[in-house]
Amino acid sequence: MTGLRNHLRRRIALEGPLTVARYMEECLGNPRHGYYMTRDPLGRAGDFTTAPEISQMFGELIGLWAAVQWRAMGGPGAVHLVELGPGRGTLMADALRAAGQVPEFRAAAHVHLVETGPVLRERQRETLATAHPDVAPKWWNDLSQVPDGPAIAIANEFFDALPIRQFLRGPDGWRERLVGWDEDAGGLAFVRSGAQPTTPLIPPPLDAAPEGGVVEICPAGLRKAHTLAARLAAQGGAALIVDYGHDRSAPGDTLQAVKGHEYAGVLDDPGDVDLTAHVDFQQLANVCIRAGAATFGPVGQGDFLSALGIRERAAALTARAGEDQRADIEAALDRLTGADQMGRLFRVLAVQHPRLPRPSGFEQAV
Ligand code: SAH
Repeated sequence: MTGLRNHLRRRIALEGPLTVARYMEECLGNPRHGYYMTRDPLGRAGDFTTAPEISQMFGELIGLWAAVQWRAMGGPGAVHLVELGPGRGTLMADALRAAGQVPEFRAAAHVHLVETGPVLRERQRETLATAHPDVAPKWWNDLSQVPDGPAIAIANEFFDALPIRQFLRGPDGWRERLVGWDEDAGGLAFVRSGAQPTTPLIPPPLDAAPEGGVVEICPAGLRKAHTLAARLAAQGGAALIVDYGHDRSAPGDTLQAVKGHEYAGVLDDPGDVDLTAHVDFQQLANVCIRAGAATFGPVGQGDFLSALGIRERAAALTARAGEDQRADIEAALDRLTGADQMGRLFRVLAVQHPRLPRPSGFEQAV
């Protein structure tokens, strides 16, 4: 039995079944055994691959987007360039290189990395020290710690890693889905809470879910989105949130576990598999609007990157590439933008100060 499974068994014995959010928190963030506390899970040899790890084009285009936003903000002499959940630091390194095309922006940008995992923090430090020895990034555990001032923030595959709660609609109304311990089977098992949740927890239109429906809310994600949006509305700036999910709130169980690029059981190997859930962009956008910010999108990642010129960038890279690299660039372009790849499932939401103009990449968006 793994250390975390033991710990969960004890905790459930003491406190009773855990919410799915507490379970995810333990699995991902337990200081000794949590998934993100103990490893770098990215890349081919790891558990999953993200857009910045697929191609430099992703981070470069986001770096240029940030430079354009900075100009729209009036080109402040100092701006916080913030990344939430920066992984290996690849996106930030690529973004800063591209931002070099707008030297005033590059000079104004102070880099802040919001990261809780010690192994990934070290990776980020190495990546940035190698690529940009002149940059002195600062690390924080939470967005609320980033110093005041105008900011441009990026979050790629960050919100999907935040803990969700799940509610099931049964014949007797709503019940929370919990993680308990099944003595007979000797393992973790889903159980239903005996008590009705307080109704305001489940926002419309999800409260109209039919019997048998599962509804998810991500309190930590909504809280962080609120902090981000309130700060952009009060102090200026813009943010891009990129993740897999749905534009409109809809019932559905999207909790998933991934290990070695394959799906795994969500209760099978606590602390040793990545646990994520789809991002509900409608809930996220609503909270940002309530905090005083404007939102644009979400749009598909494929459309967003195409509008920013990923094909032109791929052509420029191809022109100076060898035969092998050409095939790689073509494959990366397809993975990032293809409708059957990441192009449609991944959504991009812009959040910004209400007086900023429509951000680039969102020309067609509502
Ligand atoms: N953005 C990166 C990594 C995505 S994986 C990329 O695209 O490659 C999720 C990232 O979020 C990791 O860096 C992980 O350590 C970090 N993370 C997860 N939960 C977090 C939390 N609550 N606060 C800060 N960072 C967190």
